[in-house]
Amino acid sequence: MNFEYAAAPESRSVVKIDPEYGHFINGKWVKGSTHFNSINPATEEVLSRIALGTASDVDAAVKTARNAFDKSWSKLSGRERGKYLFRIARIMQERAREFAVLETLDNGKPIRESRDVDVPLSAAHFFYHAGWADKLEYAGLETTTAPHGVVGQIIPWNFPLLMLAWKVAPALATGNTVVLKPAETTSLTALLFAQVCQQAGLPEGVVNIVTGDGSTGAAIVNHPGIDKIAFTGSTDVGKLIARAVAPTNKSLTLELGGKGANIVFGDAAIDETVEGIVNGIFFNQGHVCCAGSRLILQESIADEVLEKLKRRMEKIRVGDPLDKNTDLGAINSAEQLAKIHELTAAGDAEGANRWTPSCALPDKGFWFAPTIFTGVTQAHRIAREEIFGPVLSVLTFRTPAEAIEKANNTPFGLSAGIWSEKGSNILWASQQLRAGVIWANTFNKFDPASPFGGYKESGWGREGGRHGLSAYLKGSAK
Ligand code: NDP
Repeated sequence: MNFEYAAAPESRSVVKIDPEYGHFINGKWVKGSTHFNSINPATEEVLSRIALGTASDVDAAVKTARNAFDKSWSKLSGRERGKYLFRIARIMQERAREFAVLETLDNGKPIRESRDVDVPLSAAHFFYHAGWADKLEYAGLETTTAPHGVVGQIIPWNFPLLMLAWKVAPALATGNTVVLKPAETTSLTALLFAQVCQQAGLPEGVVNIVTGDGSTGAAIVNHPGIDKIAFTGSTDVGKLIARAVAPTNKSLTLELGGKGANIVFGDAAIDETVEGIVNGIFFNQGHVCCAGSRLILQESIADEVLEKLKRRMEKIRVGDPLDKNTDLGAINSAEQLAKIHELTAAGDAEGANRWTPSCALPDKGFWFAPTIFTGVTQAHRIAREEIFGPVLSVLTFRTPAEAIEKANNTPFGLSAGIWSEKGSNILWASQQLRAGVIWANTFNKFDPASPFGGYKESGWGREGGRHGLSAYLKGSAK
């Protein structure tokens, strides 16, 4: 018998969204000169008007961050800085529901994920780094324990609050002050975070948030008063930033794109593996830099895995992100949806076989059904380029050496997964794979204590753990 789920929508009454927002500079709200709409991608409803930061807004933010660094933040002991971080973490926990609903409205991700992943992990990043603030000299770092000064941080739209936490928490713990720009389509939780900074009594100017588009990001990158840039986003923009920063003394970390290989050996536990494959590519609509977007299956079990995967995909519930039953929410923007359509059409044109479960998509908003392509070869665009959507490209292999060769045959090197019952297989394969993060018999697991970052065109530097602290201290590589 088939049971239908009754709708279980989370109430949005817990959030208050202003019709218009300014920038958060020097602990105060500063009016913007022009604004753009922030919409709910699940309904296309306009949620608010966001200020478009100009070069002079960025300049004001950098000056106030410098002033806060010189006059207050750099004078505090690590212990005192840690107290503020603990306070921020606790307030984020207290306001967790508000953050989760707002993130889901603004980003389109299911409430189940914003509530159970994004928000708790964001608070965990502040707790973790609060603990390091007074222990930097005992962390065994290869850098000094002196902060860079003013840090410019630019983040993408796929995990808006979590990426903010990954950036702001280590920067503050190590004694830097911050000018942060959220992504154009997802500024709202960063603006709510600004309220948390006020509530925590954080000294004015320590965290500044300037909203805007790529031009605002470029103004941060090119501002001479910035000592370090921390960027997460696409490889193309990462390359532009690397070029802009190269002739300067600015320090730089880049967390860029990926095309993660999820390798399944013939001896893997198939049912668990199928769950891992689903989590690897359909979590957060596949808008995940480290998604397991290339499934590399040993031929001997390929048919069985694909049959079970398709059966499992029939159960993925696509729809209202605020419904607690929803597994797959909306695509973040019309632009991203167009990119997914373009790449999947290339998959069809190049001869791969597309399969989607029989799921109805809402009429309004931006949606894409979970999709797999079989018969994919290394030369196909869908095997080489990041789709950044709920689309899985399936390749097969006969020998372990072939699996590794296929997995490493990519300009990226961010993540990989290995599924096998044999420890020796896992250890061997993980030594051959060129990826910054490798999961074994699991996928998409994150922890603030664990460093995250890539090889090759996936960027440089690490975030999280002790390694992530180093990036915010003088003496770090570039
Ligand atoms: P983009 O690179 O387009 O944007 C990232 C951020 O940079 C946004 O805030 C964007 O502003 C800003 N930006 C755009 N142009 C410039 C510029 N010339 N100078 C400075 N800043 C600029 O990426 P997306 O937002 O589309 O994010 C998706 C990409 O991010 C994917 O490729 C994904 O793999 C990668 N990513 C990597 C992660 C990692 O940890 N390695 C994690 C998450 C995502 P605006 O939004 O206004 O355009």
